[in-house]
Amino acid sequence: MAYDVDLFVIGGGSGGVRAARTAAATGARVALAEDSRMGGTCVIRGCVPKKLMVFASEFREGAALAREYGWSASSGEFDWSRFSARMNGELDRLEQVYHNLLNGSGVTIHNARATLQDAHTVALSSGETVTAETILVATGGRPVRPDQTNAHLGMVSDDIFQMERLPKSILIIGGGYIASEFACILNGLGVEVTQYYRGAQILRGFDDEARGLVAEMMQEKGINLHLGTNIVEMRSAADAEGDMRMPAHIPVPQASADAVGKPVWIKATNGDARVFDAVMFATGRAPNSHGLGLEDIGVKINRRGAIEVDAYSKTAVDNIYAIGDVTDRIQLTPVAIREGVAFTETVYKNNPTKPDHELVASAVFTQPELGTVGLTEEQAREIETIDVYCTSFRPMRTAFADRPDRVLMKLIVSKENRTVLGCQIVAEGAGELIQMVGIAIKAGLTKEDFDRTVAVHPTMSEELVTMQNPVRSA
Ligand code: NDP
Repeated sequence: MAYDVDLFVIGGGSGGVRAARTAAATGARVALAEDSRMGGTCVIRGCVPKKLMVFASEFREGAALAREYGWSASSGEFDWSRFSARMNGELDRLEQVYHNLLNGSGVTIHNARATLQDAHTVALSSGETVTAETILVATGGRPVRPDQTNAHLGMVSDDIFQMERLPKSILIIGGGYIASEFACILNGLGVEVTQYYRGAQILRGFDDEARGLVAEMMQEKGINLHLGTNIVEMRSAADAEGDMRMPAHIPVPQASADAVGKPVWIKATNGDARVFDAVMFATGRAPNSHGLGLEDIGVKINRRGAIEVDAYSKTAVDNIYAIGDVTDRIQLTPVAIREGVAFTETVYKNNPTKPDHELVASAVFTQPELGTVGLTEEQAREIETIDVYCTSFRPMRTAFADRPDRVLMKLIVSKENRTVLGCQIVAEGAGELIQMVGIAIKAGLTKEDFDRTVAVHPTMSEELVTMQNPVRSA
């Protein structure tokens, strides 16, 4: 049977766009549907605007540090509307770049929502239908609020980028990447930040010492972090105003109509009962797998809503593939891109390729950043006997100004064959550093290979090649 196109991609995020472009480059006839803005979570409401906000938030401390170095510097006032106009301009530019890349590759773009009528037919919200030999679902994920009364009063990460003003105070719920990154960003921008995490320490799953230091430094920089804490009740501050349970002396900030919403009164497990100008839920993300007609045609979706795929990203239906966050393997842009490239190799280049999910380096853009690759100490010692090389020190740049900032560098080494199994870095610029260490660890290098490398002096990362003795074996 002749199809309208060889490949129909649903979703114009990092993974979908890369798969569409690489498939089109092989000569395949490719169409792509995106019902929102081209670029997806990463470009429009994730990594890119987040990183711009990280940069913006670092200048206040930068100016204070500059004064210690002899400059008569002052950060002055932060103007959110000026910054956000510029940020939105940059996102518009990048969205256009994505459009141009697709157009330049010969991909037909449909600005419409796509659903599947059957395994080969895509119905578009524009009224069109398109038949395709192969379908790739790359619909990503979305932030979710917890199932709690009045949760709609809280923002999620998507809303942060739409704010028309900065709140004076914010309560952030969660202890993962997004909660911790935005706690640091907003604190840096001058917002009074309180963070509740229900567990014993933020950044669950990361190395214990590394996340411990990040949490300490976040508190040191002024974030009111409460561990083992959660909301038990929330409502609009205006509704709660007459309530006996809300102390009368707490002022209710002025309401606004933008994404920040109206002030929220909350009661927490630690006894807090107060009004915040805004609340943000950073309580996880869910795959965008429902409402696409997938289950009706036999695609399997797991209990968490993720599309089930095999090692080649193929779903339970032979001609339907899925990549990126909708499959909930590793929720990172570069992973989705690799999955997209592997899909093209497999389907269009006759080169069956499994995306490689081993030893993926990543960074949490807290202040300081946490860079990680490979095993944490806790994971490694469950598997084999290890030597732990670790150092923690005050870096030169901030020690000069008597700042309490600390850096952590940690290598987890196999006792048996001396392979470096993991590296954890807590430091300014850890995201940049871990990318490089990731190459060495991916290459399977040993601690002795690290030691043979002459240090670059004076740097923080020279410690990675000069740690002589293990601090412990485990
Ligand atoms: P995470 O899964 O990392 O964190 C969710 C947090 O919310 C956890 O601390 C979790 O607690 C908590 N939580 C969940 N449900 C509730 C609830 N009902 N009440 C209170 N707390 C709750 O999700 P994120 O949304 O932060 O990030 C999603 C993914 O996006 C990440 O896993 C990452 O892959 C990706 N990402 C990557 C970034 C980067 O590379 N720098 C940046 C941002 C996102 P608990 O630990 O107890 O489950």
